[in-house]
Amino acid sequence: MATIAVAGTGYVGLVSGACLADFGNTVVCVDNNPDKIKTLKAGGIPIYEPGLEDVVQRNVASGRLSFTTDMAAAVRASDVVFIAVGTPPADDGSADLKYVEAVAREIARAMDGYKVVVDKSTVPVGTGRKVKAWMAEELGKRGAEAAGYGFDVVSNPEFLREGSAVQDFMHPDRVVIGAESLKARALMKDVYRSLYINETPYIETNIETAEMIKYASNSFLAVKITFINEVANLCEKVGANVQDVAKAMGRDGRIGGKFLHPGPGYGGSCFPKDTQAMARIGRDNGEPLSIVETTIEANERQKNRMVHKIEAGMGGSGSLKGKTIAVLGLAFKPNTDDMREAPAITIIEGLVALGAKIRACDPAAVAEAKWRLESVKDSVAFCASEYESMEKADALVLMTEWNQYRNLDLDRVKTLLNRPLFFDLRNVYKREDVESKGFVYHAVGK
Ligand code: NAD
Repeated sequence: MATIAVAGTGYVGLVSGACLADFGNTVVCVDNNPDKIKTLKAGGIPIYEPGLEDVVQRNVASGRLSFTTDMAAAVRASDVVFIAVGTPPADDGSADLKYVEAVAREIARAMDGYKVVVDKSTVPVGTGRKVKAWMAEELGKRGAEAAGYGFDVVSNPEFLREGSAVQDFMHPDRVVIGAESLKARALMKDVYRSLYINETPYIETNIETAEMIKYASNSFLAVKITFINEVANLCEKVGANVQDVAKAMGRDGRIGGKFLHPGPGYGGSCFPKDTQAMARIGRDNGEPLSIVETTIEANERQKNRMVHKIEAGMGGSGSLKGKTIAVLGLAFKPNTDDMREAPAITIIEGLVALGAKIRACDPAAVAEAKWRLESVKDSVAFCASEYESMEKADALVLMTEWNQYRNLDLDRVKTLLNRPLFFDLRNVYKREDVESKGFVYHAVGK
């Protein structure tokens, strides 16, 4: 089993650190945000992620998991150092590597012998080489002894999904390891021994291939969602039902049924930025990925389309002025508090721009939503529950399909709303059920 430092205790770093400790490794998680580390040391979890608290508590109690802001000490105590910091989009759509670079240089300034440095952040092809160069430069500054320590860079992209991150990390579809030396490969097998011996598909490649696998996977998923969104839009025009179309398509093993659920457009901290970065890598290398470029545009259209769907359903142009809309769910998907690039932001801003007032709720994301919706704060009220948000609203919008919104008491909903108008942007409800209660029901593509 390995001794590991994980730099960055966000969704990926904290889940990876806790789960790697659960696999039997000794892990120290590092963050330069002292508040996060204080919370973690006090037994708190700074993010909402089902099941994470249990794994963290279990491994802290066993002595295999600890937290610190002291990167140098963490690096010296470890054979393997994971980089799990953010790679947000820069203004030109490329991934901003400033946090990755800062950590790589810090590792080199602190190390006292051979280390394997593992990039878990999602980074453009070629970043592994850059990490190597940044580290070599820092080691060079420290003189001949440090320059001789030696290190390997490994690319180990992460495929976990927020909301089921612990389960995904513990039972991945595959582990991808991009490495150059046998020594690094052997150490990575130690790190993932409990998955490796359980015959989880374990794919060893070169660094560039591993980096590309992550972007290609996320871009493909974004294309798949966008494809079914466009099919849904067409279904609305021709009288077809996209749910039946998707179900039948998905039975074809070559297509598969997952990610064929139409909705208000994809969001979150990964697909929007990773598709943009992938498109940028294509352009930079003279091989534009037209399908990814088109997907990005179509996804923006899809979010705006929802605003116009609601406006049309409420009576057409000008009908939103002075009206109140209840919005259930704000996070980009259920079971997370993550609001990064959530379609709810664009859609709420769009509705407010057309004169609407919003009464919104979400079981976990309200704190995040408050500052992300700052620009429209005078028109948005945050409510403690779904039923409170419906009080005297002129329409109901189901934005994010949290479990508690899947089985609403429609009789009660009807008494709370001014008008029985229901926009189900996640296709959760059956048209017959909602219409039989006297609602006017709008869904996506059916
Ligand atoms: P995040 O923003 O939640 O967490 C990043 C953490 O890094 C923060 O806690 C921040 O304080 C810390 N940090 C920044 N600079 C630091 C430094 N110099 N030293 C120590 N800590 C530092 O990000 P995330 O969602 O966990 O994503 C991390 C990476 O993983 C990104 O590249 C992302 O694309 C990728 N990824 C994310 C997901 C996901 O679902 N969130 C899934 C797969 C891959």
